[in-house]
Amino acid sequence: MARKASAGKLPKKLPLIPLRNLIVFPNLVVPLFVGRTNSIKALEGAMKKNQIIALVAQKGAETENPTENDLYEIGTVANVMQELKLPDGTAKALVEGMQRIRVKKYVQKDPYFEIEYEALDDTEKPDIELEALMRTVVSQFEKCANLGKPIPQEALLAAMNIDEGGRLADYISFHMNLKTEEKQQVLEALDHKKRIKLANGFLEREIKILEIGQKIQTRVKSQMSRTQREYLLREQLKAIQGELGDAGEQGGETEELRTKIKEANMPEEVEEKALKELDRLSRMSTASAESSVIRTYIDWLIGLPWTTKTEKELDIKEASAILNSDHYGLDKVKERILEHLAVHKLSKELKGPILCFVGPPGVGKTSIGRSIAKSLGREFVRISLGGVRDEAEIRGHRRTYVGALPGRIIQSLNQVKSSNPVFMMDEIDKIGADFRGDPSSALLEVLDPEQNNDFRDHYLEVPYDLRDVFFITTANLLDTIPPALRDRMEIIHFPGYTEDEKLNIAKKFLVPKQLKAHGFKSSDLRFSEKALSKVIKQYTREAGVRQLERSIAAVCRQVAKQIVEKTKRTPTLGAKKVNDYLGTPKFHWGVAEEKDQIGVATGLAWTEVGGDIIKVEAAILKGNGKLTLTGHLGKVMQESAQAALSYIRGRRNFLELEEDFYEKLDLHIHVPAGAIPKDGPSAGITMATAMVSALIKQKVRKDVCMTGEITLRGHVLPIGGLKEKLMAAHRAGIKTVVVPKENKADLDLVPKHVLEELNIELVRHMDDVLNIALDYKIGKLSLKVSK
Ligand code: ADP
Repeated sequence: MARKASAGKLPKKLPLIPLRNLIVFPNLVVPLFVGRTNSIKALEGAMKKNQIIALVAQKGAETENPTENDLYEIGTVANVMQELKLPDGTAKALVEGMQRIRVKKYVQKDPYFEIEYEALDDTEKPDIELEALMRTVVSQFEKCANLGKPIPQEALLAAMNIDEGGRLADYISFHMNLKTEEKQQVLEALDHKKRIKLANGFLEREIKILEIGQKIQTRVKSQMSRTQREYLLREQLKAIQGELGDAGEQGGETEELRTKIKEANMPEEVEEKALKELDRLSRMSTASAESSVIRTYIDWLIGLPWTTKTEKELDIKEASAILNSDHYGLDKVKERILEHLAVHKLSKELKGPILCFVGPPGVGKTSIGRSIAKSLGREFVRISLGGVRDEAEIRGHRRTYVGALPGRIIQSLNQVKSSNPVFMMDEIDKIGADFRGDPSSALLEVLDPEQNNDFRDHYLEVPYDLRDVFFITTANLLDTIPPALRDRMEIIHFPGYTEDEKLNIAKKFLVPKQLKAHGFKSSDLRFSEKALSKVIKQYTREAGVRQLERSIAAVCRQVAKQIVEKTKRTPTLGAKKVNDYLGTPKFHWGVAEEKDQIGVATGLAWTEVGGDIIKVEAAILKGNGKLTLTGHLGKVMQESAQAALSYIRGRRNFLELEEDFYEKLDLHIHVPAGAIPKDGPSAGITMATAMVSALIKQKVRKDVCMTGEITLRGHVLPIGGLKEKLMAAHRAGIKTVVVPKENKADLDLVPKHVLEELNIELVRHMDDVLNIALDYKIGKLSLKVSK
């Protein structure tokens, strides 16, 4: 295709066309657009002579009329193969580069440039390095094409077939998108190796750019394809829902929920939140997991009783009647409750403290709570806090957790569908705290009238006003209620019942209740008083009446079976028949000793199920002053035995004991029943009495029992649970009870008939105790018994 022009045939002077953005290499055919007047004239000039023209690039493309200084020095001589005049006066020419030249002189500037020049020698001396360079440059050229550079296949082939390094460099440079200056550099590189290296450098740069471009391309592509895919799937889903009629349903559902939200009477803030969530829901596919979470949340907001209340005007007389008709006894408790209700009625604004019912199980705490709800015309709910360790049980889990729910407070309110129920929280003394947070701190917020208008459940996220809720808490023991909580509550004690009271409760309430529950007519079954008494004494051991109620129910069940089986029987249940229904008696209450004994004293204990009597045995053995304590005694009880011994050692003169009596003996104290754990200081004086009796070999009166803590000097300190203890003494048939004088005030709590039948000895000092309990007056003591 290209002919090598021989320098010899070329004319000395040539017309010159300045090139913009174009370099014409030797041996390559290039189309040329000629627009500028000077250039057209130069072309015409060349055409008139031998159709040979000099082509030199100008340094800046923007210069319209370049002078010789604006042109490069080195250019190309070309042969004009074709010329075509265009109607607008411009021309198009096809030129073929022939030879590199250096411009020596501009001999004419107008109407076009004419120059004198020097043809540059371009002959090549092949060598191995050149060969290697050529191969590299060809393979780079190929790589460029593979990476996506638009290089025609023929150009690649042609490059492979070029056998001269210089030409190859020219050829490749021409096919690359190089800047004019860069191509000019190649043109000016007369040394062929240098020229190839230059071309190679440009190729390498191009490859790098292509590679980076490709990387970006793949990344963009993958992103595009993911979003496109999701879009496509979503559209498909919509289409499927449309086909199934789901989409319409969803729209309808959204509207339905919107109406429900509007009708739920929510506070403004809550409604706003609900609508916002609804909005999110409506934009979601019904199939997504998230949407069902939101749906449940909205349902909770709709379901909660934000303003639904049930209430009736409180009539104190009526309330009193309700309390009385549901409960026997409990006079003090009822009085306190009526006072509380009266205050509540008078000052709706003034938020009284929360009520806290403290007492053993089965004494009617829950049932009084129900009666309060009844007299206020409110709903009643109850939760148990026993064993709650996790704050989330009170306050709920955040919605981010799978399966999250509101806490128990909100759940219960949702259950009763009322915003002002009587809300009973049982076993507030049994809540615990651990790493999951402290539930009592959440409770503090709930129970504090100052801040519970703004209770925040983690699940709900919106505040709920608890001010209208009538909270009541219950506990078995006061000591284990967290002090901060205890301070906020008004404590009402529920003492245990006496046997008499239990009998009355059974007759008036429990039996009728159970008969009704079992569908009996009153002629079907009657409990004789003696039978009930026997059940109370021998089949139950409790401060309340739960076991009693259960035993009555057990009898009823068996009678029901007999009625169905038509077994012959008498409708009245006598004391003797009780065994037939309930089996052998389960409990034997402690009873007084049968005769006076040495070394055995009777004490009184306070247990969870009420009071009981305990025996303390002391034995003297030969030995070397050891004190042995058995019977599962707690630390406090052991220490109080030590204190009792020290008191005796201090009083040895008065007790007529030898100075070193304890060095020759071992003392053994045992408190049956050995397997039941016992603790507390209140057996101090009993242990001292048993020890003295054993040491001085004098009997203890069987009809005396005692309770009191002892000090080293023999002072008798007050104890707890006096009411229960005295009732136990009474039940055991004891006549005289020795009680610390400082407990005198507690006697008011004890039922009158019990007090009447007991001889209560109030004491301050252990010496007095010995004088009462031992069947022997300690002569030397010359005691003044203080009563
Ligand atoms: P608590 O809540 O104190 O454990 P409950 O209120 O559950 O006790 O009482 C247990 C049962 O004993 C209930 O059936 C209750 O009606 C009944 N009861 C308790 N005290 C009385 C009482 N003074 N008069 C009538 N029934 C009572």
